[in-house]
Amino acid sequence: MFKIIKKTIQYPRLTLDYPNKPFDSTFITGKPVIDNTKCSMCGECTKACPSSAIVTDEESKTIGINYDECIFCSNCEDVCKNKAVSMSKEFELAVKSRQELRKGPLIIEDRIIPDKSFEVIGKRVDEKARKLFGRSLQIREVDAGSCNGCDYEINALNNPFNDIERFGIHFVASPRHADMLLITGTATRNMELALIKTYNAAPDPKLVVAVGACACSGGIFKDMYATRNGIDCILPVDVYIPGCPPRPQAILYGILKALDRC
Ligand code: SF4
Ligand code: SF4
Repeated sequence: MFKIIKKTIQYPRLTLDYPNKPFDSTFITGKPVIDNTKCSMCGECTKACPSSAIVTDEESKTIGINYDECIFCSNCEDVCKNKAVSMSKEFELAVKSRQELRKGPLIIEDRIIPDKSFEVIGKRVDEKARKLFGRSLQIREVDAGSCNGCDYEINALNNPFNDIERFGIHFVASPRHADMLLITGTATRNMELALIKTYNAAPDPKLVVAVGACACSGGIFKDMYATRNGIDCILPVDVYIPGCPPRPQAILYGILKALDRC
């Protein structure tokens, strides 16, 4: 017993001060940034991009990145001979409107609900509900067909470094107890119905947060026969968190953004 107390006193506090203090680390890979003044429009980065996230504006002769599709692989930085692309350390990228992440136009597939008896009621969360959630929040995590990369990062929110419970945010085992659905993966065709059932099982008002490139847009699995192009093809999404996978602090930022707490 004495040994345990001694150890507890010896160890410094591990929990990060983020988001109260900025998070900085040499290991952060943030979003890629393009300097169009250095770009010669050679197209090498577009060819190297595995998720076809780099788009060209023929009129202005500039290139841009759809961050909802980008997997932050840094291929574009590696192949650019003019050093026009560089990976930044910016990770606080969660937004409420997907268009804000895009350079190209946004086209969302029609929401096709596989079983009409499970109708999605996309109720918007009002100001009052956000204030209510401001005190405490129950989250149900749903893997709708991810590689588990995003799920590992979500798991890390509960470790002593991130300690998400200090914000009054808890993960629950059932959507019936949840205020927020934190969804990873593209939404595979086989998961569509399960996702809709889960959404309908969560009590109103509820928030939906799409975590990772797959959930935001389909990512590298976009337009495949077995998947949908992101969660918003099926459910109304309140916040999009890009990244592949987004780091725990980026997910925390997105959750707090959904609650209007950052
Ligand atoms: S980081 Fe990778 S996915 Fe993102 S734009 Fe560059 S090449 Fe494409
Ligand atoms: S966004 Fe990347 S890490 Fe997350 S599920 Fe998709 S492939 Fe995996």
